[in-house]
Amino acid sequence: DIYVLRLHHRLERDKRVTTHVALVARAFGAKGIFIHGEDMNLLKTIEKVKANWGGKYFSIEFVKNPKKVVREWRSSGGIVVHLTMYGIPIDNIIEKIIEKNTKILVIVGSEKVEGWYYYNSDYNIAIGNQPHSEVAALAIFLDRIYKGGELNIQFSDAKLSIIPQERGKKVRKNE
Ligand code: SAM
Repeated sequence: DIYVLRLHHRLERDKRVTTHVALVARAFGAKGIFIHGEDMNLLKTIEKVKANWGGKYFSIEFVKNPKKVVREWRSSGGIVVHLTMYGIPIDNIIEKIIEKNTKILVIVGSEKVEGWYYYNSDYNIAIGNQPHSEVAALAIFLDRIYKGGELNIQFSDAKLSIIPQERGKKVRKNE
């Protein structure tokens, strides 16, 4: 199972970006997200998406102490991956991570990430060595882990599902 840890969520500046991190996490196969900070509007938005489009198991937990999440994750046998432009290219390491076949905590930052996370993660991984975005970095990491399979995820508890169309929109209401 994969969970995401979103560091240092600042209400005003990060509200849309953190919401997008959570939406990408859910849509592309993570089981939940830990958010450093608190934001009831974000919670409402994601709960509404879950209610309509499914994935009720997807957990959202606001945390005050993200280092504790990292420590507990590692001591329970999971691996911690920190996504950073300064890290090792993902292609050099992805197979090793997949082979470990254990639960993964993926850390994404917002502004500057404290040095502690670089030293207390099992892997510091770069999705290319250029600065871009936590949303893009997370999406590509999940895509590499699931080898594209995440695009076919079905949520069995979805109230709404899309029937793909060449043009226009078709949505089915599931009973
Ligand atoms: N300048 C910040 C720093 O030095 O840590 C990073 C800011 S960036 C907008 C926010 C987050 O996006 C980073 O903490 C990282 O998780 C992710 N990110 C951005 N570019 C990345 C890359 N090339 N590879 C992996 N993650 C990246």
